[in-house]
Amino acid sequence: MALRFYNTLTQQVELFQPLEGNTVRMYTCGPTVYNFAHIGNLRTFTFEDILRRWLIYRGYQMKHVMNITDVDDKIIRNAAAENKSLAEYTAKYTQAFLEDMAALRLQKPELMVKATEHIPEMVDAIEKLAECGFTYQSDGSIYYRIAKFPEYGKLSHNDFSGIRAGARVDMDEYDKANARDFVLWKAPKDGEVFWESEIGPGRPGWHIECSAMAMKYLGETLDIHAGGVDLIFPHHENEIAQSEAITSKPFARFWLHSEFLNVESQKMAKSAGNFYTLRDLQAEGYQPEVVRYLLASVPYRKKLNFTFDGLKAAARAIGRLRDFKLRLDTDKYPDGVNEKILERTRAALRQFEESLDDDLNTAEALAALFEFVRDANTAMDAGEFRAENTAPALDLLERFDRIFAVLEPTKVESGLSDARVDELVQERNAAKKTRNFARSDQIRQDLLDSGIILEDTKEGTRWKRK
Ligand SMILES: [Zn+2]
Repeated sequence: MALRFYNTLTQQVELFQPLEGNTVRMYTCGPTVYNFAHIGNLRTFTFEDILRRWLIYRGYQMKHVMNITDVDDKIIRNAAAENKSLAEYTAKYTQAFLEDMAALRLQKPELMVKATEHIPEMVDAIEKLAECGFTYQSDGSIYYRIAKFPEYGKLSHNDFSGIRAGARVDMDEYDKANARDFVLWKAPKDGEVFWESEIGPGRPGWHIECSAMAMKYLGETLDIHAGGVDLIFPHHENEIAQSEAITSKPFARFWLHSEFLNVESQKMAKSAGNFYTLRDLQAEGYQPEVVRYLLASVPYRKKLNFTFDGLKAAARAIGRLRDFKLRLDTDKYPDGVNEKILERTRAALRQFEESLDDDLNTAEALAALFEFVRDANTAMDAGEFRAENTAPALDLLERFDRIFAVLEPTKVESGLSDARVDELVQERNAAKKTRNFARSDQIRQDLLDSGIILEDTKEGTRWKRK
């Protein structure tokens, strides 16, 4: 079976291929930089990273655009409260987001673009909407007339036929009970930041930025548009209404949305005391790749119950894989090949790939890998593993890590370099040879204090980071 995704627009699983050639044109809604991203946001970005990595694995070129929302209601409110300019206020959280991305090993999209650097494109899009009669003005603001777009509701599968024409909403975010004509361009309020433009002074609403930037960089019809389920309505519904009113073409062929995340079975909320950023979890001693593993391990269309037991299990799972890799890298096996294990390795790879082709079923892909690791460890213990079984097993791990990216431990800043650890291990071996056990024990303890664990085996001493 070929690569296929569940499309929110059609509510069906569909075979995926890009519209043109081998390049996937993908747009993902980026962060609103008014705060640190929480783990619910990070789940969405991790899903998009797995999606991106899997498309690359399958041989596609990516043209992936992510926006940075650096002007909206919350940003303006918070910047004013801190007496800062928008740019000053958003720079801090933009930087924090880039750091979180790097820590979580999220590949950078080909383009990351800021809303405030695309005001002329947004003004242009609003002018086009005005020419086609999709807008009207009220008190200096410009609104989108949803009654003029009969397909409004086709993404969220809501029936809006009964709503009152002409009722308006100025907020960037609202729920479907408030489905109304939404604001494209907001008239300046006292003391608020605004831009002078051909359509009058003001600032853009949130929704127009994604339509304008997506079409500028990716053309009128995208292959994939992705985000969290919380964006389906109103944000993505409004993006469709804007873009398709301008072009009369489908805005995106595939709409992919990742589900919500709960914490210990509760809705995450600051007031409930269960609200976490990546920094919070790092401060509690969890490495970013452990968080990444947990976020990636549940298929994106399932709700994810984020628990501390789950984090500990994720750390153990990564540890098992690292131990297995270390065994493959350092143990010596008798020459030859065990055909049964070789076939087992091939079957695991097949299952891994088929699972990810199946709408990114990460849970099944991981199950395939871990069943193989268990069987291979059993074969090693029984002396059945052979030297020529090593390369295919390492290849499987390498392919797994191209997607999951957890095998390499995050370098602890104060930690020792690999070369320095090797040096100390050699010094310890020399000390043991001369029966200087006080020195060799001291080195072992010092390394342990720096998070390095030594294992003495028949083949010599090997080490790993905690
Ligand atoms: Zn967006």
